[in-house]
Amino acid sequence: MVRPIVKDRLFLSLKSEEATKEDLPIGKDLLDTVRHYSDCCVGLAANSIGIRKRIIALSLHPLELIMYNPVIVKKEKPYTTTEKCLSLGETETTVTRYETIEVEFRDTSFVKRRAEFVKLVAEVIQHEADHLDGIVV
Ligand SMILES: [Zn+2]
Repeated sequence: MVRPIVKDRLFLSLKSEEATKEDLPIGKDLLDTVRHYSDCCVGLAANSIGIRKRIIALSLHPLELIMYNPVIVKKEKPYTTTEKCLSLGETETTVTRYETIEVEFRDTSFVKRRAEFVKLVAEVIQHEADHLDGIVV
């Protein structure tokens, strides 16, 4: 189900809580919402749809991904880039990201996984993981 996007800065600055198995359906709504906004958005964190749980979703054709409780455990090759956030409209902010990251997370069956991501996918994961800690670019 597509959910409305939250733009309240104070709400977005709050840290999100660990997701549990009961939160699995939220991930699906989150992915539905990313797909709905695919013309301007490739990923979302759950607080962007009003739910303060550590869940992110990505849709970068052909890759689609829902991650519960993602933790970036390794990052390599820093670079500087500019990013926009759907929640903030057209504002561009300069950030430091890492080209290669390793992430521990739970998948859509809530099974623990560890995977490596590179380039744009890695960048989107870093942006959304920041949202979980209340950091908005
Ligand atoms: Zn954002």
